[in-house]
Amino acid sequence: MANYRKKIDETATEPKGPGRPANAENREYDIVPAELTRCLKCGSTDRTPYQGSPDVLRQPGSDVTVVTTWRRCQCRQCGQWRKDKYQQTETT
Ligand SMILES: [Zn+2]
Repeated sequence: MANYRKKIDETATEPKGPGRPANAENREYDIVPAELTRCLKCGSTDRTPYQGSPDVLRQPGSDVTVVTTWRRCQCRQCGQWRKDKYQQTETT
């Protein structure tokens, strides 16, 4: 699990520069999806990991390119397959 408290180096005798102390452990990060997708059939958010290669559609516009990605997964609650759709823009 993520540890949000900063580790304090009590053995340090002089101020440190930017960055973490040399003997500090790597912090673990939870990766949290911006949108929590939900099964349309049963409402559950519990799903299998995304499977296979995603479908990607790139739609270039005058200012930005809209990138739409569909990732396949299966609801763990009722077994319904779905594609989770995610959209982002890239400046061109
Ligand atoms: Zn479901």
